[in-house]
Amino acid sequence: MPHADAPAHEYDVVVVGSGAAAFATALGAIDEGLTAIMVESTDRFGGNTAMSGGGLWLPNNPVMQREGALDSRDDALRYLDECVGEPGHASNRARKEAFVDGVDDFVRTTERYGFRWARAAEYPDYYPELPGGRIGRSIELHPVDSKSIGPWRKKSRALLPFPMMNSDMFRLGRAWSTWSGFGQGVRLVFRTLGGLLTGRILVGMGAALATAFAKAVVIDGKVPLLLNTPARSLVVEGDGADERVVGVEVDVDGTPTVIRARRGVMLAAGGFDQDKARRLELQGVEGNPAGSPGALGGGIDMAAAIGADLEYMDDAWWGATVRPVEGGLSSFIVGERSMPYSILVDKEGRRFANESESYVDLGHHMLAHDGAQGPYWLLLDNRYTKRYFLTFAVDPNANKKMVAEGIKVTASTLGELAQKTGMDAAVLRAEVDRFNGFARTGRDQDFRRGDSAYDRYYGDPTIHPNNNLAPIEKGPFTAYEVVIGDLGTKGGVVTDEHARALRADGSVIEGLYSAGNNSAAVMGRTYPGPGSTIGPAGVFGLIAARHMASRG
Ligand SMILES: Cc1cc2nc3c(=O)[nH]c(=O)nc-3n(C[C@H](O)[C@H](O)[C@H](O)COP(=O)(O)OP(=O)(O)OC[C@H]3O[C@@H](n4cnc5c(N)ncnc54)[C@H](O)[C@@H]3O)c2cc1C
Repeated sequence: MPHADAPAHEYDVVVVGSGAAAFATALGAIDEGLTAIMVESTDRFGGNTAMSGGGLWLPNNPVMQREGALDSRDDALRYLDECVGEPGHASNRARKEAFVDGVDDFVRTTERYGFRWARAAEYPDYYPELPGGRIGRSIELHPVDSKSIGPWRKKSRALLPFPMMNSDMFRLGRAWSTWSGFGQGVRLVFRTLGGLLTGRILVGMGAALATAFAKAVVIDGKVPLLLNTPARSLVVEGDGADERVVGVEVDVDGTPTVIRARRGVMLAAGGFDQDKARRLELQGVEGNPAGSPGALGGGIDMAAAIGADLEYMDDAWWGATVRPVEGGLSSFIVGERSMPYSILVDKEGRRFANESESYVDLGHHMLAHDGAQGPYWLLLDNRYTKRYFLTFAVDPNANKKMVAEGIKVTASTLGELAQKTGMDAAVLRAEVDRFNGFARTGRDQDFRRGDSAYDRYYGDPTIHPNNNLAPIEKGPFTAYEVVIGDLGTKGGVVTDEHARALRADGSVIEGLYSAGNNSAAVMGRTYPGPGSTIGPAGVFGLIAARHMASRG
């Protein structure tokens, strides 16, 4: 059974959380020969990491280098300077450099502990045309046998029980319209069966990442991971220049218990995705998070309570999601809104953004357009419905619920669709006519959809002259209600290039580190490429462990 033993009361490193940032710190502690313990507030480990796509944006990484893919430190930094800028301290040049320079150590260290990385060679940066932009900087794990962690398998927060990879995703969207898409579907079926026939239960994406970390840290590294053990506050000793975080108070079966940390405490407890009231106050919307229930912001509050500075609390890893059915989960949509024969319109029937742009940009555009109040509608021509795959509409029961709750609406004419959804029929008609003109010429003069290689990644290469544009003219038409969604929040503790927590005056809070969504994102207000949250979470998690080790 998973460890439930009461903690010994002193370790070199105490890690709060059990996602990518937390595990990377614990793995670093093992690698440095330090003792470590991890505490997780919920009954499952892995957090948003386990539920994620499991992609890591790691420019100039060793996997690229081995494959001879073109990249360099300079290009990575040029690109980050261009697209992230410096909207706050968390995104300053020193932190960007620390991230880019830490990639090599993260990849090689994890490889030494059994991680097998694959490159998503065709996945572009989200602004690949900017100086320093590239295609193929993201890596993910080859599928992992979830049985390798024994009973911990049932304690993972992961959802996907099969070996899907990011490189499957974009082709699967067009499984019915291209041979490459169909072939990818067949390969996925064979991969799943191949695992089962050899007695393994292979998992991919975030599930693979959480499993690989648990294997290296908990099973092989014997680091205790205590579930149902929320951290409540930090223990601080000393005054003035001698002030230092020396431990954490946690709840063990409802009993407050102090775990002391000789080298440091890592706060990696994720964001405040699920705190609707705080999000409404700071971000203007309650949010529709796609992640785990444990993201309540406790790690951020603990740091703030002892004077840590916070940044980007008004921002999130935004995106679009189909309005969840009553009691259901969010369905974050990426490829679905990028395929041809579709447009995304506001409540009146007007387009307001490039449907194919990166999810964080789309969320920002929703907020700028109408405070993300919506509703928005993803409107599909009948040819879309026949050719492409909607991840959120596979389950027939979910489909029935969406119809019953007015989330999925069908109509034989655009006029009827407008009437059923509350859009303005004349506005919608004019918008569709204008868009259809763009589809014929291949140039979206309003929002430049399809101009970027990023847009085209989730397009249909058989559609010309623009892989993302095709006219909306054949009924029956379908519309799905879309609301602002997110992959989590990105505001939190301001940290330096060693992942140390800082006060507002820039001074270091000795003994306290933070990474992942518990910290303010090095990526600032943007999302440079696929895996821009887990990449830095892992790299800064490891940087923190190395720094703790160097501090004797
Ligand atoms: C559907 C989905 C797909 C995504 N795909 C990608 C992707 O492919 N690439 C990418 O880069 N990002 C992706 N993201 C975002 C990414 O998953 C997260 O940003 C990232 O995993 C956050 O990692 P973390 O280590 O900061 O926190 P998490 O992985 O969320 O872990 C934090 C853990 O801390 C626990 N915790 C909270 N409070 C306490 C407390 N007081 N005491 C102890 N424990 C506590 C939580 O319960 C949680 O288990 C995706 C997100 C979602 C939801």
